[in-house]
Parts: sequence; C-alpha cells; structure tokens
Amino acid sequence: MYDVKSMRADDFIDDGEILNTLEYAQANKNNKELIGSIIEKAAECKGLTHREASVLLACDDDELNEKMYALAKQIKQKIYGSRIVFFAPLYLSNYCINSCVYCPYHVKNKHICRKKLTQEEVKAETIALQDMGHKRLALEAGEDPVNNPLEYILECIKTIYSIKHKNGAIRRVNVNIAATTVENYTKLKEAGIGTYILFQETYNKKHYEELHPAGPKHDYCYHTEAMDRAMQGGIDDVGLGVLFGLDTYAYELCGLLMHAEHLEAVFGVGPHTISVPRICPADDIDVDDFSNAVPDETWRKIVAIIRIAVPYTGMIVSTRESEENRKAALELGISQISGASSTSVGGYVRPESPEENTAQFDRSDTRTLDEVSDWLIRMGYIPSFCTACYREGRTGDRFMPLAKSGAIQNCCQPNALMTLKEYLMDYASEQTRLDGEALIEKELNNIPNENVRRITIENLKKIENGERDFRF
Ligand code: SF4
Repeated sequence: MYDVKSMRADDFIDDGEILNTLEYAQANKNNKELIGSIIEKAAECKGLTHREASVLLACDDDELNEKMYALAKQIKQKIYGSRIVFFAPLYLSNYCINSCVYCPYHVKNKHICRKKLTQEEVKAETIALQDMGHKRLALEAGEDPVNNPLEYILECIKTIYSIKHKNGAIRRVNVNIAATTVENYTKLKEAGIGTYILFQETYNKKHYEELHPAGPKHDYCYHTEAMDRAMQGGIDDVGLGVLFGLDTYAYELCGLLMHAEHLEAVFGVGPHTISVPRICPADDIDVDDFSNAVPDETWRKIVAIIRIAVPYTGMIVSTRESEENRKAALELGISQISGASSTSVGGYVRPESPEENTAQFDRSDTRTLDEVSDWLIRMGYIPSFCTACYREGRTGDRFMPLAKSGAIQNCCQPNALMTLKEYLMDYASEQTRLDGEALIEKELNNIPNENVRRITIENLKKIENGERDFRF
C-alpha cells in the first residue's frame, strides 16, 4: 500500500502506485488543458508531484515540450544562476563482491584488473586532482567488506583532506559507496563528508533483484532504505539517481520522484542532488543488451522534467555523456558537472592502458578541465569550484529553504566568481584566464546585494595578491 511516510521501501516506492501513475499519464498524455495547468504550476517553482511529472513525461506535443524545456532553463537560472559547479570522481578500489549485470566491477568479471589504492596512491591521486584545480571530489569504491571496509574509506577521506599541495586543497569530499548501517553513516558524517550519494539503479523491485542476482546489493529494501539510514546517521545531504536504461524510463522517473517525496515527507529534506546516468559501454558490458536504453532526446527530456519537478535539487551530469549532450543538458537545468574525470583506479596519475583496465565505464567527454572551463565560460556559464555550503553548516534543513526560495544565489554567485578567480590564477591557460577575467567583470554586476558585491570585489583583489579560500 502506497505510503509516502512509511519507512518500508515497498510502501514508499509502491509498485502499484507507479503502475497507476503511468496509466494515468498515458491516459492524459494528450490532455492539453491538464498539461498546460501542470506547466503553469511548475512555473511557480514549487515543484511537481510524481503524478504530474509523469504526465509531462508522457506528453509528445512538440509545442508543450518546448515550453517545458524553456521553463527548466528558467528555473535553473532562477535558483542557481549561471554557475556550474565542478567535481571529479576518485576511484579508490574496484574490488566488489556484488553481481550487478550492468557494471564491469561485478565479481564474475575475471578479465578486469582489480586494484585498490594505497594511502600513498590516494595522496598522489589527490595531488594530481589538486594540480588540475579540483576542490570537490566524489569517492567511488566497490562493495567489499574485506578489501574496502568502511575504515579504509575513512582513512582515505582523512588522507585527502590532509593534503595541501601548492595552493591546492580538496575542500569537499562526497562519497558514493554501498548501502550501509546507521552507525557507519554516522562515522562518514564525522569524517566530514559532504553528500552521501547512492544510485538506486532501478526502482522496479523485481527487475532490481534480477539485475543483482547475488551479493549484499541483492537486497532491494536494504538498498532503497539506505538514504533513510543515512539521514538517521546525521548525513542530511543525500544524492539520488537511477541508472536510466535498466527499466523503462517512465517507471524510473516516477520511482525517483517518489523517493524524493518520501525524504521530504519524513525528514523535511529532499535530495541535495539528483544524477542522471544512463547505461553506457564498458568492459564486459554491451549497451545493446539493454532494451530499455534511453535515446538522447528522451534523456534530455528527463533532465528537464526533473529540474522542474524538483527545482531545489542540484542536478549532476558526468563525463559518461558527450560534449554535445552535456551542452544540451546544461540548457535544461544541470547545475553540476564533472570535468577531466578518470573512471579508473589510480587513473589520474597513471592513464589507463588496455592491459591494465580498471575503468567503470567509458567516458564520452575526455577534455581537460581547462578545456571544459573555457567551454563553459564561452557559453556564459560560471565554472564554480565552490564548496561553501557544507563548510558553513548550510546543509539539510538549513540549505533547503535557501535553495527553494532561490536565496542561495546570493552565495552561489559571489562564491563562483571567487573560486573561478582562484582557478584562473593557479591553474588556467592564458586563453581561459582572459575569458574568465572578462566573465568575472561582467558577472559582478549580477550580484544583487551591494554589500556582498563590495566584499566580493575586495576578496578578488586579495586573491590576486595570493590569499585563498574566501566564501559566503
Ligand atoms: S554556495 Fe552552496 S549551493 Fe552555491 S555553489 Fe556554493 S556550495 Fe553549492
């Protein structure tokens, strides 16, 4: 029985509710009046229910779809402004005891090279990331209690935060590891992590169990209830996502939004971020084996609908997607991207070789961070290396009202400009520096509060004179 406030996965992601919703969406997909009224409601920036969003997804009227895309762009601009926050994944270990059929780390893959970073290697990877200009990481590791126990992850976090190379620093470590206990989530919180990220993969329980035939991840409920345990353990910024292409995209979008509604209903805090990965080629994985693989155009529509349904959330796209798709997604509400990622264990120091393949997936966007930064600048976006919110205690229920009202922009805009300035001074090529300086000049005018603008200008001067790490 569907119950948004239940603590049981089978209730808050009720299969019957999803099927009813999809039926309702199909029945109303040509109901222009209803769709028009949903778009009008979305324009108030207060979000949509899973039912309303599903109707929009089912709609195939070009004119109405164009309205949704324009609205998604407008909402992203209203809440987060022009800034696009950068992050990089750091793969710690690809040892894994699970059997996920879509992931090359699955335990039965005997031809992938297994590797786990030593602390020395973590240090070297961190320095390589700092030398590119990164300030925010997402740690990735397979599930293996012997090779990658929580203590190992905690040790890596400590190592990463301890390294200050030249002007570099990793200021925020997000963590993407397997579902675990409340006690372990508390330990992660105490280690100073930013967001805890866990992708659901698929919300269809039956399909989930088939796709995870063995290993601890087989337990759908334990996995689906992980965010509740994370919240109970004190982590109030959690990141959701599904791997689009495992089940039908309409089912997944509905489940994803029901999950967001559940977190909001129970904890008063929805997902801090939503990622939109989809099945992509990798060692031992052929996209053609997945009949639900999502075409580009549909994927873009999903991005737009998540943005208008959950306006306050950070939306993430990785280098799985091509430059072209990333560009389109930025226009539809994406607010965070990875840049110059390596999806291999140790790949920032030692580039991948065919004999020693440890990658989780093939990247489509292989540009350098400098190239991606300049690309953003030339499109009018502000590349941001900001990590301010969680360091200022703006997490969970302190962050959400600011994001919902758009007041967060008073922090995002100056912080983006100040962290971009650091990047330009310390890491950028000459061309990027010139383009970036011009953008900063222009974007200073878009800081609404005069006092904040004045302080930002003073801080930009201080950065020029060698000081670092200013934030609102
Ligand atoms: S001010 Fe907060 S929300 Fe805005 S970019 Fe910085 S950390 Fe993110």
